[in-house]
Amino acid sequence: MKTTNPMPIPVSTPSLSFENTEIAFKGQSMADLNRAFWLFKLVSSNTLVKIGTPITNLALKVGLPIEGIIRDTIFKHFCGGETIEDCEARIQTLTKRGVGTILDYSVEGEETEEVFDATCEEILKTVNRAKGDPSIPFSVFKPTGLGRFELFEKINAKEALTDTEEQEFQRIKNRIDRICSESLNANISLLIDAEHSWIQDTIDDIAREMMQKYNREKPVIYNTYQIYRHDKLASLKADFYYAKTTNFYLGAKLVRGAYMEIERKRAQEMGYPSPIHSTKKATDQDYNDAILFCLDNIDRIAIMAGTHNEESSLLLANEMDKRNIAHTNPHIFFAQLLGMSDNLSFNLSASGYNVAKYMPYGPIKAVMPYLFRRAQENTSVAGQTGRELSLIIEEKKRRKRASLS
Ligand SMILES: Cc1cc2nc3c(=O)[nH]c(=O)nc-3n(C[C@H](O)[C@H](O)[C@H](O)COP(=O)(O)OP(=O)(O)OC[C@H]3O[C@@H](n4cnc5c(N)ncnc54)[C@H](O)[C@@H]3O)c2cc1C
Repeated sequence: MKTTNPMPIPVSTPSLSFENTEIAFKGQSMADLNRAFWLFKLVSSNTLVKIGTPITNLALKVGLPIEGIIRDTIFKHFCGGETIEDCEARIQTLTKRGVGTILDYSVEGEETEEVFDATCEEILKTVNRAKGDPSIPFSVFKPTGLGRFELFEKINAKEALTDTEEQEFQRIKNRIDRICSESLNANISLLIDAEHSWIQDTIDDIAREMMQKYNREKPVIYNTYQIYRHDKLASLKADFYYAKTTNFYLGAKLVRGAYMEIERKRAQEMGYPSPIHSTKKATDQDYNDAILFCLDNIDRIAIMAGTHNEESSLLLANEMDKRNIAHTNPHIFFAQLLGMSDNLSFNLSASGYNVAKYMPYGPIKAVMPYLFRRAQENTSVAGQTGRELSLIIEEKKRRKRASLS
């Protein structure tokens, strides 16, 4: 017999609110808040970021002494430091607040075999640092840090490879396999970042192979699904059914996607249909559907919701409660980037959910492309920057009120 539930289903976890700025900014001094305020104010200027990006690049190239300024401002805000050792203090700060760290060696640049080998060794160091330390639950790598972009692209386009290229590709796969195998041995999980659509099939094929090999007993390797692509919810489902029938766990990092403008521009210039949803609403709808699909199958899928979107984060948190899924379920993680959306990270962790933050690190010059992406992403005052600024203003007001009472 069908019964009606006398209690209405709660629309939000009563204790969870992303508006709580006291929790979000706990431990940050007034000087820290002021620095963050001016930083977000600066990057919110579209013109300044547009002009600033090439000028900064040029200044670094010709050796003008601007590294110090970058180090004390944007680098300090968004990065843990230049080395793993530099990151230790920030790792401890996050740990004290119940938030995990994902050490992200974010160098982008030179494409030589020596650099790819050195990057592989550095990522192995992050795996080693994470071993036995629950405050670092994941490692991560970006595939083009380990191999030539053009080679990924050529394979994606199904062009024939020369013998030398075949060997080069095998070396990329060996590097990736080594990192995956070390992650399994270290008992930590490993995220494979997603990149541009014209190399992503190559990455997806490798990621699937690695999951099939290493996710037999539990989810170790996570591929990334960029849900701003209109085909990616379907890929997620197809990968899940493949994983189920061939008996491995699917690891899925769900993101909206970081390369929208580049993707659309390339599609237009080359005359093919854009792979990106035509509206933000459609991206949001698929993102939330992806969360629900994963929750429906959470015994066989492990997810990381890599997002600063409050609605999607709240949806996931609330759905877990509705479905009686423990906040500490090891198959579910929320994740944000260092220096962004602390109101999500710290309020989620205060409510007992699994949360981690990407902590980019590396030599300043080499992490500049990452920093420019963050600056560009933050230029919209209507978007994330507006939110960061209003939260800082709110917290400053709250502290003033508290000091008066
Ligand atoms: C922990 C973590 C890991 C990440 N890893 C990756 C990664 O591996 N690869 C990667 O590409 N990105 C990655 N990102 C970045 C991510 O893809 C987004 O660019 C960023 O998080 C902003 O999206 P959002 O969900 O946080 O929030 P929102 O601010 O709600 O969404 C902004 C995003 O929506 C989409 N969007 C905006 N306008 C439109 C439009 N008109 N039509 C269609 N779609 C639109 C774009 O993807 C845009 O970035 C990661 C982010 C986090 C937090």
